[in-house]
Amino acid sequence: MTRPAIVWFRRDLRLADNPALVEAAASGQPLIPLFIDETGVPEGEADGGATRWWLHHSLLSLGRDLAARGVPLLLRRGEPLAVLEALVAATGATRVLWNRRYTPRGVVQDTTIKAALTRHGIEVRSFKAGLLFEPWEIATRSGTPFRVFTPFWRSCLAAPPPDRPLPPPAALRPCESVPPGDDLGSWRLLPTAPDWAGGLNADWQPGEAGAEARLQIFLDQRLKAYAVARDLPGQAGTSRLSPHLAFGEISPRRAFHAARDAAGSGNGLDRFLAELGWREFCAHLLFTVPDLPEQPLRGEFAAFPWRDDPELLVAWQRGRTGFPLVDAGMRELWTTGWMHNRVRMVVASFLVKDLLLSWRLGADWFRDTLVDADLASNVASWQWVAGCGADAAPFFRIFNPTLQGEKFDPDGRYVRRWCPELAGLPDRWLHQPGRASDIILRQAGVSLGRSYPHPIVDHDVARRRALAAMENCHGGE
Ligand code: FAD
Repeated sequence: MTRPAIVWFRRDLRLADNPALVEAAASGQPLIPLFIDETGVPEGEADGGATRWWLHHSLLSLGRDLAARGVPLLLRRGEPLAVLEALVAATGATRVLWNRRYTPRGVVQDTTIKAALTRHGIEVRSFKAGLLFEPWEIATRSGTPFRVFTPFWRSCLAAPPPDRPLPPPAALRPCESVPPGDDLGSWRLLPTAPDWAGGLNADWQPGEAGAEARLQIFLDQRLKAYAVARDLPGQAGTSRLSPHLAFGEISPRRAFHAARDAAGSGNGLDRFLAELGWREFCAHLLFTVPDLPEQPLRGEFAAFPWRDDPELLVAWQRGRTGFPLVDAGMRELWTTGWMHNRVRMVVASFLVKDLLLSWRLGADWFRDTLVDADLASNVASWQWVAGCGADAAPFFRIFNPTLQGEKFDPDGRYVRRWCPELAGLPDRWLHQPGRASDIILRQAGVSLGRSYPHPIVDHDVARRRALAAMENCHGGE
């Protein structure tokens, strides 16, 4: 009897363009598809509430797709090496295959596991599947990692193009005797008391089919106008592929080639590919700067005098800052697990520069509430907004949340949706209710301090305070 191969699924919860699965299928060996709910993950990298919800549904979907091909998904909770060793011992598996991950902890863990399994005579094979370009494939002329996006992406585009995506394997051979796994429900990934996931259920379809549906909508309806529409949070102008990409329900190669095939050329296409490029850039950064989640990339920020004010933090988290665009964004995040990119930049700048609260607090809240929470994209983006990251806008560029609202949500569609208590205000005052007259507020049914908060800071004062803090910090180097 042929001995089985184990395919260890991680953030690659798909059948299409899955090289580890394709290789296992091609070998003709019986297959054990495995997902491990890893124990011992440090707090800063653990799944948050929203990603746990997503993971539950994504595993259900993958499990159904695999079961339909006769190979049930095995679920195990534990420390990965111990789980793999036990499964190899119980099944006599000769090979373990996985698609590579690139977080510093993931790389160390995979290296250790590979060495240990190899010592036991098990063949371990790993594949590129989560990125268009491996972090070590793209480097400056002097061989160092890029720290600026534009030359990084130019260098990616000059490299041989990413391979076309692989089709799902035609047939998978089941393994006759697999020891029982965990019941997904026993992992308690879903929220219960209270069940806050109603908005997530309404907005998302986790799994490979949901990812493909999102891609098709984007290609058919949004790609052409993407270059402009991507900045308008009141319009459905972006792909919303981020959680599907984060969980690997669709591969970046599939998104890259499908967009190129659909559009041929144009601003929309270039812009979209560049956003996939930002995802690559973030992954490359984290790969080459392992302490990125904890330390500012620019050392002078280590001494930045962040404030400690839990009340302000809660006002920001709950969307009660008195700045409509910020509040709309934070409420969209809480309800749907996603926030428009333009608004992510504004709320992040507000936390860091207007409130002087550390970017780490913001990154942590995003990790807990975003369905697309991804260590690399999250910490690199927070550092970018805070001015301490790679290719970051200088600290003195401070978003004015009112002007950002007027510019990117001019008809107020976004703010009215997420801050319905302001919906009756005329466009002119919608982004600055604090400046509207009593009559206008009364006519709109807005009572500042009651139905909607007064601004928790004066933006101009906060701006000057942030600049002074930055100057002192640089002076104190
Ligand atoms: P589209 O505009 O359709 O872009 C296509 C894909 O490109 C996205 O799905 C995403 O995978 C990638 N992408 C787009 N913009 C960026 C970007 N700026 N950086 C990295 N990748 C990008 N994205 C995450 O996937 N996970 C995160 O945890 C995350 N945290 C963020 C935190 C902050 C403070 C900011 C400012 C941005 C963050 N982003 C994060 C990036 C970006 O906001 C989202 O990827 C994007 O809004 C997802 O929406 P979309 O799929 O419709 O994007």
